Amino acid sequence: MTRRRWIASEFDRETATLTGAQADHLARVLRATAGMQAEIVAGDRLFRAVVAEVAPAAVRFRLEEELPAASPSAPPVTLLVAVFKFDRLEWAIEKATELGVAAIHPALARRTEKHLAQAAAARVQRWRRIAIEATQQSRGSFVPAIHDPQPLATLLAAPLETPAADTRILLSEHEAVNPSALTLADRIQSLAASSEAAVTLAIGPEGGWTSEETARFAETGWLAASLGPRILRAETAIIASLAITASLLATDGPHPPSTAQQSFHPRST
Ligand code: SAH
Repeated sequence: MTRRRWIASEFDRETATLTGAQADHLARVLRATAGMQAEIVAGDRLFRAVVAEVAPAAVRFRLEEELPAASPSAPPVTLLVAVFKFDRLEWAIEKATELGVAAIHPALARRTEKHLAQAAAARVQRWRRIAIEATQQSRGSFVPAIHDPQPLATLLAAPLETPAADTRILLSEHEAVNPSALTLADRIQSLAASSEAAVTLAIGPEGGWTSEETARFAETGWLAASLGPRILRAETAIIASLAITASLLATDGPHPPSTAQQSFHPRST
């Protein structure tokens, strides 16, 4: 029977602890008892563990043995996603996590609806909980970082916390109607050779990118790409982009940056 996998809230060399809703679910719903086997993700490492103590607000595990990383490392893929209708955005965060995204930067774009832009900061904790639960459900071995929402202009002006010098690709609906546009697959295939190919993908809001935003992306080194002639909803574009990128860059989807990789500073434009 496959051991259930949990993301530790706190951990040290010998133990790991679940707290909050996770602990409550494990204690009350799954009726965990001492001795129960599980897998624990502690930071970017995976362990076989045993329940040591069950309390309503916290379940403590003893870490028994480190398990090999789930699969060969693959270049990390980061998403810059313009905030759109929360229920659809949250569904897309769950799907992106299942597909192995390394990090998500929520962006407040010109056509992000005003009330969503104002409410986004208060929703980030919920988005992070969705990422933890989707990581557990999909037996991922790391939780994608969900950054605080920032105005798009800020994200394009400041260093994006991406794992290394990455290739930045703007998925643009304007390219969909451009018969000579390069597709995302064209762009990724030309990268696939270099093993260090880290990729950042930008997806716009329901209203799409403005021409000023598209120009600003180009000025700051982003490469425009098409997902084909149909206009996809943002959540569809997120899933398609991650699936295409993961399938072309590695066998099993993107992995987080190794801790050794430095954070990335934008090229001077
Ligand atoms: N409302 C706009 C489309 C926005 S779709 C319109 O009708 O034109 C939301 C986002 O999904 C876009 O900003 C883009 O990032 C992505 N997207 C959708 N279809 C795409 C395509 N065919 N090629 C590239 N990106 C696409």
